[in-house]
Amino acid sequence: MSAPFRFRIPEHGVLAKESFEPAEPGPGWVRLELKAMALNHLDLWTTQGIEGVRLPLPLTPGCDGAGVIVALGPGTVLPPGLELGGSAMIAPGLSCGVCADCLRGDDMRCARYGVLGHVLDGTAATHVLVPAANLLPIPPNWDFRQAAAFPLVFLTAWEMLVHKARLRPGETVLVWGGGSGVGTAAIQLAKFLGARPIAVVSSTAKAMKCWELGTEHVIDRSREDVARKVRELTGKRGVDVVFEHTGAATWDASIASLAKGGRLVTCGTTTGFDARLNLRALFAKQLTLMGSYMGRREHLWTLLGHLGTNPTNPPFRPLVDRVFPLADYPAAQAHLQAGQAFGKVVCEA
Ligand SMILES: [Zn+2]
Repeated sequence: MSAPFRFRIPEHGVLAKESFEPAEPGPGWVRLELKAMALNHLDLWTTQGIEGVRLPLPLTPGCDGAGVIVALGPGTVLPPGLELGGSAMIAPGLSCGVCADCLRGDDMRCARYGVLGHVLDGTAATHVLVPAANLLPIPPNWDFRQAAAFPLVFLTAWEMLVHKARLRPGETVLVWGGGSGVGTAAIQLAKFLGARPIAVVSSTAKAMKCWELGTEHVIDRSREDVARKVRELTGKRGVDVVFEHTGAATWDASIASLAKGGRLVTCGTTTGFDARLNLRALFAKQLTLMGSYMGRREHLWTLLGHLGTNPTNPPFRPLVDRVFPLADYPAAQAHLQAGQAFGKVVCEA
């Protein structure tokens, strides 16, 4: 293989490829030789910079990855099913492991919580150091591309639908960005939970693919008024749950689309974070608004358990839109930024 290299953000807006000497892992940590990494919007924000957020530059971006365990730190114990020289995928959330929130399992509420590639050197590299507790076995029959594309979006969507919105069988859920990584995860998980997803997309091509995923309805926001269409599809009632991650541009339609007693859960603001809220709608419609960020690391093991019940025909799977060579990581970022991807953008080492 070629000499080890990584991408670095020396200052926001700059993405530089450089060769490096992979470090030895400390106690409890491992070094992974990465075979694939997947991009998230966090890669773009980490690279470009976020107003009011100071990041530890220089930094290697990249939250998701999968590869081969090539070195163990002193005394490191691996999770069940993993061995030195074997393959693994990475849970992207990092936490202290010793505070009350961590001990309860709510690691994403830890005061020292952070995401790989955002607070610590990430996966846009041939090698990465991670705590052994952040490793997971790769489901049978999955390749490294799928393994890399899985953790962050499925963990996020599971936390939002199951543990925040408490989505129940038969309920309707409006999924914004039905073609995005987290949107494709939400559609599949909603179906898995027995609910009825309505996907919102921006093009006919994405609509076709959402139908293939088995969504109950698709709304093309380039041609249709989303809130009006939701009313039509639900007999004027509205949806039980709105799955938000787009923010300012979609907020008004999200609130208008909710049924009485509806729940909105959001994990992001790709179109901006300033939104207005009509408080009369909030109380009169008895709405619940919830914020969500990542999810319990433990839930990834729960998801693996569900996949294990039917490995030949898994109830959900990551969708890979396009694969770039790792050396073309900046081009992969540009592809994600352009908004035409359906599913995850992946780089292969
Ligand atoms: Zn903690």
